[in-house]
Amino acid sequence: MATMKCSRCGSEKIMTDLRIRDCYDVGVGQDLQVEVQRNPDALIFKQAHRESLRATVCGECGNVGLSVENPQALWKAYTEQKD
Ligand SMILES: [Zn+2]
Repeated sequence: MATMKCSRCGSEKIMTDLRIRDCYDVGVGQDLQVEVQRNPDALIFKQAHRESLRATVCGECGNVGLSVENPQALWKAYTEQKD
């Protein structure tokens, strides 16, 4: 694996692929997600596609970068959106 460097401070203490948890009760939570709705105007079947967010965090300065696990699937849903 290639060494990553923080874009802000240049540190190599980079933690990758960290989950971002949204906890709304003790022991209950889920990963934060981004959502694309293929048909946002539909009353029921909005055909949403969701991908979990993953964070890359610098262990020196705390700089955070976000990415999704499966951007191709999200892009596909995005390009299929109805106006
Ligand atoms: Zn940093």
